[in-house]
Amino acid sequence: MKSAPNHIKFCPSCGDCSIEPQDDVSVLCSTCGFELFFSPATSAAALIEDASGKLLVIKRNKEPSKGAFGLPGGFADPNETLENTLIREVKEEVNLNLVSWSFLGGWPNKYPFKSVIYSVVDTYFTAKVESFDGMDSCQEELQSIHFVDPDKIDPKEWAFPSLQNAIQLYLSKRNRSE
Ligand SMILES: [Zn+2]
Repeated sequence: MKSAPNHIKFCPSCGDCSIEPQDDVSVLCSTCGFELFFSPATSAAALIEDASGKLLVIKRNKEPSKGAFGLPGGFADPNETLENTLIREVKEEVNLNLVSWSFLGGWPNKYPFKSVIYSVVDTYFTAKVESFDGMDSCQEELQSIHFVDPDKIDPKEWAFPSLQNAIQLYLSKRNRSE
């Protein structure tokens, strides 16, 4: 698997093969000067607690990390605010309506998909729902929904290193406030 710039063999503008990846971020054509960037994609995911303090997690049904624990969330669309990404993805994935959210942190991640390794910045929000009525795990993207104590989950079972970081920060904040 290679990063996106390393898959480009011909200049998308002039068609010449004198195109080279630049630091895994862009490709530059030395014939016509065309440059194309592959900046990181942005995602947003929610840490939602139930009334007893257990965390809503999903089992992923898609590669990468199929079968691992994740959180409801997904990639930002063009022209979308990050808050809207969060609200939209939580609604799409588990059919819950967020009523409030607070930024926890953001970490870089690699997202391998169909032979391309994409760079991503994953952001995480602690969030609240009005109720869990209507919660739905029937989406193709997830196998199941669970409420867990994240303390009890082996860090290796989380889908991404960025998610391990988010859970670690979430737990350290929670333990400080107890
Ligand atoms: Zn060119």
